[in-house]
Amino acid sequence: FAKKNPNSIFRFYDDNINKEVTDFVDTYHLVKEAIENKWIVFYFQPIYDTNSLKIVSLEALVRIKHPTMGLIYPDKFINFLERSSFLADFERILFEKALSYLNRISDETGGNLNISINISVNSFRNGSIIDLCEKVSEEMRRFISIEITERVFAEKVDKIIGVLNKLNEMGFVLEIDDFGTGYSSLGYIDKMPVDFLKIDMSFVSRMAECKKTYAIVKSIIELAKGVGMKTIAEGVETKEQYDMLKSLGTDFVQGYYFSKPLPFEDILLKLKSK
Ligand code: C2E
Ligand code: MG
Ligand code: MG
Ligand code: MG
Repeated sequence: FAKKNPNSIFRFYDDNINKEVTDFVDTYHLVKEAIENKWIVFYFQPIYDTNSLKIVSLEALVRIKHPTMGLIYPDKFINFLERSSFLADFERILFEKALSYLNRISDETGGNLNISINISVNSFRNGSIIDLCEKVSEEMRRFISIEITERVFAEKVDKIIGVLNKLNEMGFVLEIDDFGTGYSSLGYIDKMPVDFLKIDMSFVSRMAECKKTYAIVKSIIELAKGVGMKTIAEGVETKEQYDMLKSLGTDFVQGYYFSKPLPFEDILLKLKSK
């Protein structure tokens, strides 16, 4: 390829850079418009108690509801958003919506659930998550579960553990997301004031076919028990996976086998029909 046309290799790079620039500009405008025009919406995916299959929490998953392009999923914009100057506005919207939905759940169903929200690594590293959390009234804090990906432990571990301690003292529920995929946090897992480990979908999806993956899931569950944490298995798609997770003692389950992420109104109907 390069031999036949020595210039082509340069053209290849040029095109790539141009595409990156266009993508960046497009994503920038998409996110900016979404925030300005209130196109940010959240879908909710229930987390269930493994044995009773009662819903214990709803994970808020962001989408952009675009007037012409339809529903846009986070894989198209979340990496950009988490590194952009729009992050503070976005996370403020996330907290406002979570609180208003929590109120609607207790008003309209009479029961109480948690809402699990995903918080970006950057808000943990710079500590801005604490300011957001301080604005939440004390009585509401235990109904908000904060998910942070295990990748947060790649850097500034002491600072991150400090932030986790602060949030724990403030009364929030804490979950490590994508557990098993990030920088091994084994060295300080006993120092983390965390309530839940979420076993990453990549393990769950392979555990029925691959003995080694099964062994990893089993060890994560034992590890969690050993340090006094509970486990949530995410991305459960089949009965076989559910049965295995149940017999291994996973505390909570989440995945398409039980429910896809749904608009809040649909979730509310589900809750009311019980
Ligand atoms: P996550 O927090 O690990 O969320 C799980 C993702 O897996 C969700 O995709 C969910 O729809 C999908 N999922 C759940 N069950 C199944 C299943 O059984 N099978 C399969 N194939 N997929 C399943 P989604 O909504 O596209 O979110 C992707 C990621 O985007 C999330 O991963 C999270 O890292 C990020 N994200 C979503 N909402 C927010 C947010 O509000 N803030 C931040 N910072 N990140 C967010
Ligand atoms: Mg999550
Ligand atoms: Mg997850
Ligand atoms: Mg995940």
